[in-house]
Amino acid sequence: MGQFKNFIGGEWVEGEAVIRNINPSDITDLVGEYAAAGAAQTKAAIEAAAAAFPAWSMTTPQQRFDILDAAGSEILARKEELGRLLAREEGKPLADGIGEATRAGHIFKFFAGEAVRIEGTALASIRPGIDINVMREPMGVVGLITPWNFPIAIPAWKMAPALAFGNTVVLKPAELVPGSAYAIVEILSRAGLPKGVVNLVMGKGSIVGQAMLDSPHVNAVSFTGSTGTGARVAEACVKRGAKFQLEMGGKNPALVLDDADLSVAVNACLNSAFFQTGQRCTASSRIIVTKGVHDAFVEQMVAAMKTLKVDNALEPGCQVGPVVDARQLAQDEKYIDIGRKEGAELAWGGERLNRATDGFFLQPALFVNTKNDMQINREEIFGPVATVIKVDSYEEGLAIANDTAFGLSAGVYTTSLKHAAHFRRNAKAGMVMVNLPTAGVDYHVPFGGTKGSSYGAREQGRQAVEFFTTTKTQYSFAG
Ligand code: ADP
Repeated sequence: MGQFKNFIGGEWVEGEAVIRNINPSDITDLVGEYAAAGAAQTKAAIEAAAAAFPAWSMTTPQQRFDILDAAGSEILARKEELGRLLAREEGKPLADGIGEATRAGHIFKFFAGEAVRIEGTALASIRPGIDINVMREPMGVVGLITPWNFPIAIPAWKMAPALAFGNTVVLKPAELVPGSAYAIVEILSRAGLPKGVVNLVMGKGSIVGQAMLDSPHVNAVSFTGSTGTGARVAEACVKRGAKFQLEMGGKNPALVLDDADLSVAVNACLNSAFFQTGQRCTASSRIIVTKGVHDAFVEQMVAAMKTLKVDNALEPGCQVGPVVDARQLAQDEKYIDIGRKEGAELAWGGERLNRATDGFFLQPALFVNTKNDMQINREEIFGPVATVIKVDSYEEGLAIANDTAFGLSAGVYTTSLKHAAHFRRNAKAGMVMVNLPTAGVDYHVPFGGTKGSSYGAREQGRQAVEFFTTTKTQYSFAG
């Protein structure tokens, strides 16, 4: 098996070390060996992106449309193969992997359209004889640092708008999932991009990521990952005046009310707490239930959890794949242990599972009798572990839903228009779901949160233009 290389200045180049990409459903399966770049190669990639910027920023919207549209078409045509690669390297069930590849194809096509729809504003001046145009211009070189949980979709939703609006890109994917990023960049490399417009540098966050943060030539950094790393990104960017946006954690509440349609609530909570192994920043991790329906909800939730098929991501019918790696599994188990010690009661799950292949399988876990001030309700676990908090009323439930350092997504399950409308207005989150899972979003509308979940301009949809461009206000004297 050959080594998958970094892409720098239009050339595929060897790295300074090797990333062994292991299948978390079957640790004997080596997905591939990927080149890990060092700091010098990262610098070279940034220089290539800087050199490519002037010409790329002057391309016509139609040229950028054609390239992004072609990439989107190839991604859609190869969605089964890309989805399988994703499922193999990250552990998402195959159907979800294919769904994610499909979404990436749609994202490229959406932003192809955005390239030609870019607009400015014309205004009359407050002074006589003067016209004003407010126009958008690209930022320059953008550094994209991405996590492992959506290995195709997140690089796609950062790269596509960056390119659509005329920026050049250096992408650093998470070390656990270089394969998906490589595949997307390989497609882009044949879609007609001039040399240096997109660069891929795989490798360690502390080396490659840090080199991007510290480079004076990286004008903007878009980051998705943990809260701790997000703080480092912010610090480095503030120091040198670079623009940045951060998408970080969640501790998303799902508020189930007495008048909920219980099957809707159970299905939504099951999906958003445990599907994709709970490894979504939009996962529901705190399920807040009013007392009248609490016992019936827990009973139905546990019954549904018992039917979940936890298995190798490529196994037909798999609903929940493995945890992504040994380190994350240890983190999940650590929190299960903390929950027990804090006095929470494990209603179901939490134990390691053996399957036909040797992988990181964990039975999804549901804690009951928990309090919102417990550590398991304060900190993001990022695994298939959810808690139930019993409350007396809607008002108490809403207060607890909002009592968190995060604010990404919040769900309410009710047949009451009054409560649904009140929750939509008063939930302190960037995204609110009524009778829907907290996870699962569309690509053509903004994505992001409040408080500790996000910082800076929103991603995706038409709002993506905010981050990837800067405005220029042009005054002209017309005589
Ligand atoms: P996760 O727990 O999801 O892996 P991280 O924040 O550790 O979250 O990783 C998200 C991305 O940030 C990854 O691509 C990772 O390599 C990168 N990263 C980690 N440390 C740094 C750093 N010091 N500077 C820049 N990027 C980093």
